[in-house]
Amino acid sequence: MKAVVVNPNSTGVEVVEHALPKIGTGEALVKVEYCGVCHTDLHVSHGDFGKVPGRILGHEGIGIVEEVADDVTSLKPGDRVSIAWFFEGCGHCEYCTTGRETLCRSVKNAGYSVDGGMSEYAVVTADYAVKVPEGLDPAHASSITCAGVTTYKAIKEGGAAPGQWIAVYGAGGLGNLAIQYAKKVFNAHVVAIDINDDKLALAKEVGADFTINGKEVEDVAALIQEKTGGCHSACVTAVSKVAFNQAVDSVRAGGTVVAVGLPSEMMEVSIVKTVLDGIKIVGSLVGTRKDLEEAFQFGAEGLVVPIVQKRPVEQAPDVFDEMEKGIIQGRMVLDFTGETV
Ligand SMILES: [Zn+2]
Ligand SMILES: [Zn+2]
Repeated sequence: MKAVVVNPNSTGVEVVEHALPKIGTGEALVKVEYCGVCHTDLHVSHGDFGKVPGRILGHEGIGIVEEVADDVTSLKPGDRVSIAWFFEGCGHCEYCTTGRETLCRSVKNAGYSVDGGMSEYAVVTADYAVKVPEGLDPAHASSITCAGVTTYKAIKEGGAAPGQWIAVYGAGGLGNLAIQYAKKVFNAHVVAIDINDDKLALAKEVGADFTINGKEVEDVAALIQEKTGGCHSACVTAVSKVAFNQAVDSVRAGGTVVAVGLPSEMMEVSIVKTVLDGIKIVGSLVGTRKDLEEAFQFGAEGLVVPIVQKRPVEQAPDVFDEMEKGIIQGRMVLDFTGETV
């Protein structure tokens, strides 16, 4: 079968002919339809989290179950399921038993610590693969498996409620979905902040009440305070320390800043403001199986529509190059069905 793996001789990826995987106890074999390409895949191929030469990449996989092990009761052949970054938890630790399974210290991550979804066939731990509901396009489901659930969870972590103001910093692949979940699912008001006018135009199209170009406005946080009285929460998807600092200053007293983007810098936080205004700053990492089930359902109901572009699997190295250069709009999804040429 064809598979996209970490090239052992470079920091890139290559498409190789790979042996078909076999299933063991508790597992299911999935015939992959689509797998999205995420910034995290780029980090994995570069060895940023530790070198994994030859690893099959991908954690935005969607496919149809072809075979299940004898002991599997949660899936059956024909089910459409996800292959997600949260591939498996231990199931018995403090985090796994209290609804915070993505923090499990023995977690397995698809496309990093175990083979992922960028291959014609993939093996999943049956109890951890989330079913894709009827009516959700599988290419859209691919994007929700990572970007969608990550932003849905982040908006939730901010304590979103109808009528509140939510600031979304960064209006790219993640931010665009954050705006949609905030607006269409939580019925909140949304202000989107980016430095790219094309992304801001798209943000408006998908529901942002107003947008701010951070390059054109002197004091972004002051403008947000003036127009909204301060946001109830801010979701920071931008990979920039500036955005994180602005987010802290743009929330109202009692507000929450949710960190999602991963710039390799430190943020500056006023201790006085944090104490006097009762600000909360929290990190949010992907989502649990239940979060993904919910995020999928809102997609199936048409409330959230990811922007995806299908590419044939052979073009995987080009897609990684384009991502490296930052010239990708929306989400690139590798097509394993053979329909995209
Ligand atoms: Zn991802
Ligand atoms: Zn655990």
